[in-house]
Amino acid sequence: MKTYTQLSDIQSELQSGKLNLPEVVDSFLNKIESSKLNAFLEVFDRESKEKAIEIQSKIDAKTSGKLAGMVIGIKDNLTYLGHKVSASSKILEGYEAIYTATAVQKLIDEDAIIIGRLNCDEFAMGSSNENSAFGNVSHPLKQEYVPGGSSGGSAAAVAAGLCHASLGSDTGGSVRQPASFCGVIGMKPTYGRISRYGLIAYASSFDQIGCFTTNVEDAALLVEIMSGADDYDSTVSDRIIENYLPLKKDKKYKIAYIKEVLDHPSLDQEIAKAFKSRLDDLKNKGHEIEAVNFPMLEYMVPTYYVLTTAAASSNLSRFDGIRFGYRSKQAVDIESTYVKSRTEGFGKEVKKRIMLGTFVLSAGYYDAYYAKAMKIRRLILEQTNDILKDNDFILIPTAATTAFKKDAIKDPIQMYLQDIFTVHANLSGMPAISLPLDNHSNGLGFGTQLIAAPFQEKALLDFSSQLMNKNESNTYNNN
Ligand code: GLN
Repeated sequence: MKTYTQLSDIQSELQSGKLNLPEVVDSFLNKIESSKLNAFLEVFDRESKEKAIEIQSKIDAKTSGKLAGMVIGIKDNLTYLGHKVSASSKILEGYEAIYTATAVQKLIDEDAIIIGRLNCDEFAMGSSNENSAFGNVSHPLKQEYVPGGSSGGSAAAVAAGLCHASLGSDTGGSVRQPASFCGVIGMKPTYGRISRYGLIAYASSFDQIGCFTTNVEDAALLVEIMSGADDYDSTVSDRIIENYLPLKKDKKYKIAYIKEVLDHPSLDQEIAKAFKSRLDDLKNKGHEIEAVNFPMLEYMVPTYYVLTTAAASSNLSRFDGIRFGYRSKQAVDIESTYVKSRTEGFGKEVKKRIMLGTFVLSAGYYDAYYAKAMKIRRLILEQTNDILKDNDFILIPTAATTAFKKDAIKDPIQMYLQDIFTVHANLSGMPAISLPLDNHSNGLGFGTQLIAAPFQEKALLDFSSQLMNKNESNTYNNN
């Protein structure tokens, strides 16, 4: 089967009869079946085949929605009525969703097909997909490497052509970092742009649903459709959603880059070099480039981990062996039900974060850790706002390195430092995107990250399409 670059191409072939949707779905199902990535935890095969027939007839009758033809995988922390959802945790064993996440519902309403649920780090905590209760996901190019995390399955599936696009969640970089590692686009909109209803909470003031695609047009379409007010999420914005398409590829912008990021000792030298030559190239093309200082860089990861573990300790208290999923066989009374179910049901990383979060919130430590981190978050927001008052974007690498080998990072602090360039957009709530613009001499790709002011998704997408112009080599591979 032919290779497509974006949904609109597929749609014109589906309309003209050159292609039919049941065949498209079958080819994905075959690819998923022969894939060894462990990206999918469950494939909704029978259901997607039925949907394909139904949507194909809508296409023939010219009554189909905006996403007819698109086949999407969803991260396993998004609910879909009547389907299992586990957040890659044993604690949700056997649990079936009793409602559908608003973002997922909006895609279904536009005739997207949901093909299955995708592996991730347990409760979206991790940077390598090594914290899943259901095994690691492999990097799509090199089996012994990680795909990044926590939405590792979502990134790997799109990169390997197992679905057209996928959903992930981004609390500290979980869409952008795996996108960078796997060579696809990963977008996290402004905090509050997309409803979090039906997204299993990790850290509620950071969590945001995002998407993985192979091209900017599809990302624009998905974000536009998923955005907007929702009675079920009081933090979602009712701001008008602009029409993101068509994308404008010719504007000149003011772009800031952060000096401390480029000088950071963890930054791979080849990534730094490629980044600098991109800045030169942009300057030559008529954009204004400004170097800015951001001394708060070193505080970002500690602040992120104090605040998100605090939130997680509270959010995850609902998993108690009574209301959801797993209950220990050793439970004999209320106390042992809580203790044993949580001890057996949660993985090591999740337990570590619950304990850390409980500690930073406890009497006597609250002021020293939690309250202080809240103040630093405010300072980070103010300083970021200052930069974005004078500039359209902040441009920085998405991650300090390319994908690393499985089991290579044993020190938890080292793993947490993976998030050094991505947590900025979550601490400040800004929209951000990772674009697969470069390849490293080690054979792996790496992303460039754009951060914009709140609700500037349109500009972010416009500029992304300009940057991707020559790089749209990542295409749907339906064969
Ligand atoms: N790696 C980060 C963490 O482990 C980011 C996770 C995320 O964005 N969900 O918290």
